Amino acid sequence: MQMNTLGRSGLKVSKLCFGTLTMSPLQRDMAPEDGAKLLVHAYERGVRFLDTADLYGTYPHIRLALKDAPDYVISTKAYCYDRKTAQEALERAYRGIGRDYVDLFMLHEQESLYTLRGHEEALEYLAEQKRLGHIGAVGVSTHFVGCVKAAPRFPMIDVIHPLINLEGIGIQDGTRQDMEQAILAARSAGIGIFAMKPLGGGHLIASSRDALQYAVSSPLLDSVAVGMQSEQEIDANVAFFEGAQDAGAYLEPLRHRQRRIMVHDWCEGCGRCRDRCRQKAISIIDGRANIDQSRCVFCGYCARVCPQFCIKVV
Ligand code: SF4
Ligand code: SF4
Repeated sequence: MQMNTLGRSGLKVSKLCFGTLTMSPLQRDMAPEDGAKLLVHAYERGVRFLDTADLYGTYPHIRLALKDAPDYVISTKAYCYDRKTAQEALERAYRGIGRDYVDLFMLHEQESLYTLRGHEEALEYLAEQKRLGHIGAVGVSTHFVGCVKAAPRFPMIDVIHPLINLEGIGIQDGTRQDMEQAILAARSAGIGIFAMKPLGGGHLIASSRDALQYAVSSPLLDSVAVGMQSEQEIDANVAFFEGAQDAGAYLEPLRHRQRRIMVHDWCEGCGRCRDRCRQKAISIIDGRANIDQSRCVFCGYCARVCPQFCIKVV
């Protein structure tokens, strides 16, 4: 497995990053033991980087996996906007994964220069924790070109976790080419880049070979987070990232597994899911949530805010 340095953070990470959202309660809802087994399987095949979030609920899975996979570089992220919320989120991460150190801690879902300025106190706190040796690097995750463009203005940001894929699915304020230009400028400023959603949240599964080839061969990306739900998927992705001659054949069984999001009948039309969705994929029609599957990136974040537990990503 190719190992890369994540920009000026100096973190050494595998090109394939294990994205744990898919095993989380927001999606497949795997038991910690089952999730940990997959993480260890990937580790044994050379994967050395994993991504999680305060929101995902996968700290227990990771904590278990670390017993047999101690050298994983761990990236997590949270919605913090000031010193207090950042401190609380960092402490949850320490307790959750059972370490007193986080390799990479990011602000989740940043959008623009203005949201970065609005969260500057949290960034400064994280930079201070980095100086004290409690964090390896500070970063931001985003679906917005505007955030990637603005990030180099903030010297405390070492890493960006942007959404980018072959067709630009899910990018909120521009095209794939716009995002590539912004990433190039950020890289030139020394910022490490690890991409999210190379398969467009599932929309590109039917063309996964081309979509993964784009991500693997892009010189702009130090690492790429891929959600994996089975040993078969891990083996296929590892083979592909390692450039196996028959890597396309490994991916073939996965081509027919399409993602879906469902809203159960007992939806009360409160609109909380609509307000939560940054992709603007939800509208309330006739008193029920209606999801535009073509805009949805299957993140499951809307499911988390539904008081009736009506939303399920499968
Ligand atoms: S949050 Fe739940 S109950 Fe409210 S509109 Fe959305 S799906 Fe329906
Ligand atoms: S509808 Fe839900 S799962 Fe789809 S993009 Fe919006 S928040 Fe994510």
